[in-house]
Amino acid sequence: MNPSNQTALHPAAPRVIAAGNPFKEQHRKRMRRVDLLTVVAWASVAGALALWLADGGADGFSSPAGAFAAAGIVAGLAGMDLVLLMLLLAARLPIIDGALGHDRALEFHRKLGKPSLYLLLAHGVLLAVGYGLAEGLDPVSEAVALWVQVPDMWLAYVSTVLFVAVVVTSLVAVRRRFPYEFWYAIHLLTYAAVLTSLPHQFSVGGLFAEGTWQRWYWLAVCIGTGAALAHYRVLEPIVATVRHQLRITRVTAAGHGVVSVEMAGRHLDELSGSGGRFFIWRFLAPGQWWHPHPFSLSAEPGLFDGGGRLRITVRNLGRGSASLARLKPGTRVAIEGPYGLFSTASRSRRHLVLIGAGIGITPIRALLESTPFAPGDATVILRGHNQSGLYLADEILELCQRRGATLFHLTGRRPPGRQTWLPESEARSGYRLASYSPNLADADVFVCGPAGWAQSVLDDARRAGVRKEQLHYERFDW
Ligand SMILES: Cc1cc2nc3c(=O)[nH]c(=O)nc-3n(C[C@H](O)[C@H](O)[C@H](O)COP(=O)(O)OP(=O)(O)OC[C@H]3O[C@@H](n4cnc5c(N)ncnc54)[C@H](O)[C@@H]3O)c2cc1C
Repeated sequence: MNPSNQTALHPAAPRVIAAGNPFKEQHRKRMRRVDLLTVVAWASVAGALALWLADGGADGFSSPAGAFAAAGIVAGLAGMDLVLLMLLLAARLPIIDGALGHDRALEFHRKLGKPSLYLLLAHGVLLAVGYGLAEGLDPVSEAVALWVQVPDMWLAYVSTVLFVAVVVTSLVAVRRRFPYEFWYAIHLLTYAAVLTSLPHQFSVGGLFAEGTWQRWYWLAVCIGTGAALAHYRVLEPIVATVRHQLRITRVTAAGHGVVSVEMAGRHLDELSGSGGRFFIWRFLAPGQWWHPHPFSLSAEPGLFDGGGRLRITVRNLGRGSASLARLKPGTRVAIEGPYGLFSTASRSRRHLVLIGAGIGITPIRALLESTPFAPGDATVILRGHNQSGLYLADEILELCQRRGATLFHLTGRRPPGRQTWLPESEARSGYRLASYSPNLADADVFVCGPAGWAQSVLDDARRAGVRKEQLHYERFDW
């Protein structure tokens, strides 16, 4: 083994586990939290509608004009509630991140985008029709009258335009056309959209009139969401950055176009950043400090009295990641996190299969180092075009030998015209994921690598009887 490739970190020896399934209770608890969060989410929508029902809102259905207006108010309440849920899903609340994982929380966040926009648009259209019918105006004239005559209403129109801009630029096909920074800047307009929508909610109509309990409930929900965002997205990262005082200690080559960045800091034992999880890093060097990058730990944090070390391994995939090779020791680092569930916290089974391709191998290496398993219970599969694409392979070999895990290196191109995650020779020989791991159906399967490749691995695992809850996939794309 090439000593220069060995990790400089000295983590505590991982716990080896006894027979039985020590993760059963942890898994049950997590699933119960997922159920609870689902109930809370639905209850919040039901709660918003209950506000309106308790205020006698259903009486409006006695006339056509009232029915349109009532449906408009219901759509607005439900739409706004979904927007607040979306903000909470993106707020990086530990209870949500710990139960769903950061990526699944963002997946739900994205799924709510279109429904909430449709409800908010329906809110405007239905109210214009309903009020118009009551006043003998067509919906367009009514919309203009509302803009001109009702205080705060112009802000609601601005808010609608902002929501449309945010949702449209977030559609995958549109988003891919723009640089990440452009998409991110537009996305920040969500906060402006929510803020500009608030005044008319409290000043127009009687539902949230002063002195009503509905007003207090709605204020509490809006303020609670704002406070959660401010705390977890702004305050916590600042506090963590100041408290942990991370600085780069070493930048070393870890393959062609790949570097490992090691950082030292204080109180790192307080960061529950166990192997496989990721942080959002900002390297405070000229031209780089404003670029936030999600990178997974590639080694378990090495801890020593009062301090510790973290390491990431990064592939040159764009302008920002390429510039990391030029980072100087001593550079300060700002952090957000740790995030994600690509860790022991999501284990549900005693057996373990870790599969990484390309730069996706790096969190696999960190997880292998830290997660508990008995000798013989873990299989590690590394996939690359060739041997030099198996990043950190020496370290992984050493860990497998030390911990009793079975290691496979799978290199070579895929067979042309076939959807498979295997190299050509293995695919032609009829190998499957189950060929590498005899306990696959009763194992947690952790997958990290390019999206199409990972999808093939996940499909193969499902065909072998692996259940959804046993599959853990870390996405490196946004
Ligand atoms: C959870 C997670 C963990 C990751 N772990 C690793 C890792 O351990 N090693 C590794 O090499 N790569 C990892 N990535 C991918 C890595 O974050 C991107 O390749 C990198 O940010 C690209 O930045 P760039 O400036 O070189 O690329 P560009 O395409 O030039 O990106 C421009 C901007 O987009 C942002 N950006 C690009 N990709 C992403 C993204 N996936 N998520 C959020 N912002 C993004 C960057 O911050 C940058 O500001 C991870 C991604 C995610 C989501």
